[in-house]
Amino acid sequence: MAEDTIPIGLQPKELEAVYAISRAVARSVNVEEALNEIIQIIRGVLIFDNMTMFIPREGDLLEPTYARVIGRGRSAEADLVWGESTAHEAFITQSTYIHHEKLAGWEKDRLCWRDFLGIPLYSKEERIGALVFGRFGGPPYTPDHIHLAEFIAAHIAQLLEHQKLVDRIATLEAERRLQRLQDNFIATVSHELNTPLGFIKGYATTLLREDITWDEATRREFLTIIDEESDRLRELIDNLLDSSRLQAGTMRMQPQPVRLNRLLREITLRATTRHHGLSVVINSESDALIRVDPVRLAQVFDNLLSNAVKYAPGSPVLLYAETDADKVHIRLQDQGPGIAPEYVSHIFERFYRVPNTSPNTHGTGLGLYICYEIISAHGGEITVESEPGQGTTFHIYLPYSQEDQQNRSATQEINL
Ligand code: ADP
Repeated sequence: MAEDTIPIGLQPKELEAVYAISRAVARSVNVEEALNEIIQIIRGVLIFDNMTMFIPREGDLLEPTYARVIGRGRSAEADLVWGESTAHEAFITQSTYIHHEKLAGWEKDRLCWRDFLGIPLYSKEERIGALVFGRFGGPPYTPDHIHLAEFIAAHIAQLLEHQKLVDRIATLEAERRLQRLQDNFIATVSHELNTPLGFIKGYATTLLREDITWDEATRREFLTIIDEESDRLRELIDNLLDSSRLQAGTMRMQPQPVRLNRLLREITLRATTRHHGLSVVINSESDALIRVDPVRLAQVFDNLLSNAVKYAPGSPVLLYAETDADKVHIRLQDQGPGIAPEYVSHIFERFYRVPNTSPNTHGTGLGLYICYEIISAHGGEITVESEPGQGTTFHIYLPYSQEDQQNRSATQEINL
């Protein structure tokens, strides 16, 4: 096994390199970047033309996972993976192995004189791979070179071990986050499903009671509640399905030419009919013909407007649209209570809800995630600007080209 104590008799330059390698290993977050850095360091103290790292894939079968050609042979065979048999020998015998070969013509072509130095890589007592240094045209490896190379290999083994731990921690962290997310999700979804279901069941059972006769007005009132709560259930289930389709990448957009002004007017009409008391003012300088999926884009605005109703009750909503050379910019602004800065960056995350939002506002934290994904699928961008007490503004940018505009103005626009 390679020694990982500092080799005695190191020159000051070598010692400095050895410390620089230790530092590169200690702060590494990415094996390849760290190896690139280490290669640069060891170039100054060890003669070699290429270095290749091999890792076992199946049993004793080694696979090159990193190779750098830095000296001779670079232009000739830069992509070649060197010294596979040397790596294998070092790995199997668990000891440093030197392979020396002089092929015909070596006096003229230095690439025909090859010295490979293979060193096994260990983590604790376990073999984890092999490192091979290749040299062309000599000089042969001396015991000092070998000792230094073994020391470097021990550090590279530490680097791999370190990376394994970092990966393991990241996996555990991701598993824990997923678990937390799933727990929250189940709690939120059960609550959200239960509430409308409770109303539906309660009012239906009440209406079915044989011992009471309801007058027409009360009957209608109960049925209206059942109707509205069923809509809420449907909306929730649609959101859940959309979210999982977006997550799986199976939601297809069906872009068509659409007049922006007309889209905004139709959406607004639908929202104000649905939410009594909602006032939306449209201020659009643009009547661009944009290429979007009208149903999905309408879904985005429906979400934003029903959020304004929920989280900025009583506030008018202003809808601005303007066009520049390559994009359409739509702003949807309310004058509600706004969102505290620490929560703003999370609101497009799946299932994210701002903590301590009024208990009367129902939601699953899917609406803005869906908006974000739909706008991204159109090659656009959605951002938010909000300050407590100052209201909230959503910005939507959609790609648009004047050239397209001219080509399409002849084509028929599609109605919503
Ligand atoms: P949901 O409404 O189901 O909670 P969303 O993804 O639509 O989920 O919104 C995420 C969070 O963003 C909401 O819980 C709410 O706290 C906040 N939010 C969204 N729109 C507004 C708004 N117009 N004003 C203030 N807060 C908002």
